Amino acid sequence: MAPISKETDLLVIGGGSGGLGCARMASGKFGAKAMIVEAGRLGGTCVNVGCVPKKVTFNAAALAEAIHDARAYGFSVQETKPFDFTTFKHKRDAYVERLNGIYERNLAKDNVEYVHGWARLLNRNEVEITLDDGSKTTVRANKILVAVGGQPIKPSPGEIPGAEHGIDSDGFFDIEVLPKKVALVGAGYIAVEFAGMLNAFGTETHLFIRANTFLRHFDPMIQESLTAEYERIGVHLHKESSQSKVEKDPSTGKLTLHYKDSNGEGKLEDIDHLIWAIGRTPMTKNIGLEEAGVKLDERGYVVTDEYQNTTVDNIYALGDVSGRVELTPVAIAAGRRLAERLYGGEQFKAARIDYDNVPSVVFAHPEVGSIGLTEPEAVERYGRDNLKVYQTSFTAMYYAMMEPQDKAPTKYKVICAGPEEKVVGLHIMGLGSGEMLQGFGVAVKMGATKKDLDACIPIHPTSAEELVTLK
Ligand code: FAD
Ligand code: NDP
Repeated sequence: MAPISKETDLLVIGGGSGGLGCARMASGKFGAKAMIVEAGRLGGTCVNVGCVPKKVTFNAAALAEAIHDARAYGFSVQETKPFDFTTFKHKRDAYVERLNGIYERNLAKDNVEYVHGWARLLNRNEVEITLDDGSKTTVRANKILVAVGGQPIKPSPGEIPGAEHGIDSDGFFDIEVLPKKVALVGAGYIAVEFAGMLNAFGTETHLFIRANTFLRHFDPMIQESLTAEYERIGVHLHKESSQSKVEKDPSTGKLTLHYKDSNGEGKLEDIDHLIWAIGRTPMTKNIGLEEAGVKLDERGYVVTDEYQNTTVDNIYALGDVSGRVELTPVAIAAGRRLAERLYGGEQFKAARIDYDNVPSVVFAHPEVGSIGLTEPEAVERYGRDNLKVYQTSFTAMYYAMMEPQDKAPTKYKVICAGPEEKVVGLHIMGLGSGEMLQGFGVAVKMGATKKDLDACIPIHPTSAEELVTLK
């Protein structure tokens, strides 16, 4: 192995979406001397324990549904064996490992020096790296990017005795055998995606939420319709719930969860896995940020301005650690814009990511997609009288051959503001929403009005055509 440089221009802490985006562009496109330090696996959360293995699992769940649906179309599909989750899991792991290798080769192609180790700021220009063999080295850098991401939260055993018997989203990807019974706690993207997939695999899935709906940051149409749909497809929803104790049977390893929900007190026995999906926290502890003068907010996120500057000159932060929109493409775009601004010369001197109108999809059952303001947000910003809300609810043609109980709903909402009816919010739920939203996202980002949507000839027969024919 080549000796580690003692000096570099840009030192990036964290080889996840944001860090890689910045380091590769700084070095590969603009020729800056860049180093990236990663303590875990290249690709970060998204590649190893996030988007990638999640989407592969979602695809498997969609196939389970398609096999079921195929019968309604006249196919005599017979499954002679249960779904081989263990083989699937190992193939998924191998795919992720291949990606790790590709990421490492891409760094080499772009001339980024890759160091595997744990980084800690010593001051505004020096980073100490603890290498895999325990030895330490110090690197001086003109500029330092903090892109350390976050990690899942679990309640402490003090808050809920036995909480440590539960796993988190990282642990979900270690599950080797398809569980028979799972309890999930949480109401965000992860809880909803995991619950939908497990339910599609035939696992008895219990979802514990604190309120009456989940995805409460989404438009009420999405919250209410998807929560109702999850109940309809057989996810056991425990509303207004809290947990008081978790017990583990030492001989079987099975868990018992003591809880309260809208039906009163209860206990759920024989659980294979309890999964906490109650949010994430930034990995900003003990990495020398405060010592270097970098300000953190009360939740531990690095305080940054719209250009990813921290409170210390030449130290920058982006991605999940900045507490903004926690999505991979956002971290990548923020990283690339920063590389442009720092190394791209005059024409990029104001480069920055625009955090407005970021589209996002929850890979739920069915998928939901959202861009712009929810209806309550739009009312607050524009006033009810300045808004026009278009909504539709229908059954997608995919379900034409199916019995009523196998038909999932499709619901779309477009929120328009002002006399020109500019689209300020677009919310969709139904088959194909994930792929559909990207194109509509472009339109919204360009400032599309309702008239622009209507001027586009519908593509028939699709679900998407309903978005350009709303009355
Ligand atoms: P990360 O990708 O978390 O990278 C940070 C890296 O820094 C890590 O590799 C970590 O090991 C390293 N690190 C931390 N501290 C140090 C240190 N001191 N020294 C050296 N290295 C360090 N987003 C989407 O857009 N679409 C999805 O479908 C999606 N699905 C998700 C599913 C799950 C289950 C989860 C958990 C997240 C998902 N996300 C999704 C969110 C997405 O993964 C994150 O927004 C994204 O990975 C953030 O990138 P980042 O670069 O900020 O941090
Ligand atoms: P989220 O912040 O999305 O959701 C966590 C939710 O859990 C909270 O909104 C809260 O909902 C609920 N919650 C919090 N504390 C408790 C508690 N003690 N008991 C029960 N419920 C609780 O976090 P996630 O961990 O799901 O995801 C993290 C981020 O990763 C997401 O925000 C998203 O940006 C990204 N991500 C993106 C995906 C995608 O693009 N498809 C997929 C997965 C993650 P409430 O207040 O209603 O109780």
